Amino acid sequence: MTESARPQATQGTSDGTHSAKGAGASCKHCTSCGRRIAPRKRWRYRFSEVRYCSKACHRRGVRPLDVRLEDAILALLDRRRRDASICPSEAVRTIAGEDAWLVLMEPARRAARRLVYKGQVEIVQGGRVVDPSDFRGPIRIRVRR
Ligand SMILES: [Zn+2]
Repeated sequence: MTESARPQATQGTSDGTHSAKGAGASCKHCTSCGRRIAPRKRWRYRFSEVRYCSKACHRRGVRPLDVRLEDAILALLDRRRRDASICPSEAVRTIAGEDAWLVLMEPARRAARRLVYKGQVEIVQGGRVVDPSDFRGPIRIRVRR
């Protein structure tokens, strides 16, 4: 069950580019998977230090490959019209062979989420911007408008 803490905190707010770390405790994102981190009771006194949504994400962190995926997404978008979008698989294919692309699809989605919270891209489905922490099914990525 998910409860949105703040009704006015809609997706795609202007907190993009380089928001002060730890400042907005109500709006925090996992450093690894890019999903929103909901405050938990046991984090009450140190929520500002929490950087990962799970132990798995803590272990994983952001690997060199993850950074390459972010770069691949941005490089592809850079070469397209400003309003064009790409599929995460296109970014995967630029750095991995055909056989590896399935394995890298989830890492590519994670990269897209991280880029959303860096204020660089939007994740869309059917032309509509979706909540990066809460989407299902195929997505496309475009430059943030
Ligand atoms: Zn995470």
